[in-house]
Amino acid sequence: MYDLKTHELEFVRDNIGLYRDQLNVYAYIWQNLRGERLDETAVIATPVPDALSAAIRSGDPALIAAALDKWNPVVPIAFDATNVQKTIADFAKLVDSIEDREFHPQPIVELTKREGKRGTFATRVCRNCDMRFSCSSYREYARGYKDRGRSKFADFYDLDADEGESLARL
Ligand code: SF4
Repeated sequence: MYDLKTHELEFVRDNIGLYRDQLNVYAYIWQNLRGERLDETAVIATPVPDALSAAIRSGDPALIAAALDKWNPVVPIAFDATNVQKTIADFAKLVDSIEDREFHPQPIVELTKREGKRGTFATRVCRNCDMRFSCSSYREYARGYKDRGRSKFADFYDLDADEGESLARL
């Protein structure tokens, strides 16, 4: 079983604990509900490495083949059911909090903090987050980006008045 992640390969390798529990729950469900054995569990980090991007830009087939040969995005994580019950209980608490509207996104200052070559939380995590269109922090971030003239996409976020009107009409 492979869990595809849009996170950088180095980040996944350095933070395996963040991925292990989630993957183990998936594996546990698969093995116990479906009764099918898994040969292997792993995360696949999908971002294309810089070296491969550069090789593709060069258009040189030999460079591209060499970069592809070096690219191994699979990070094996051994199946271990020890924490499964605790992880499921943690998921349940999280769902309860969301249903109770106790949900607090990262503050804007965290979104814009740069972490070396890995970029900011906003570019590394938020841009892959399904909640970003309804997230107050990401809206603020997107508007700031637009104010600096770097994004037309942020127009999408300037619909507050229309949203209010639309809701009033419902
Ligand atoms: S966009 Fe998603 S990841 Fe980013 S702060 Fe909002 S909820 Fe969190």
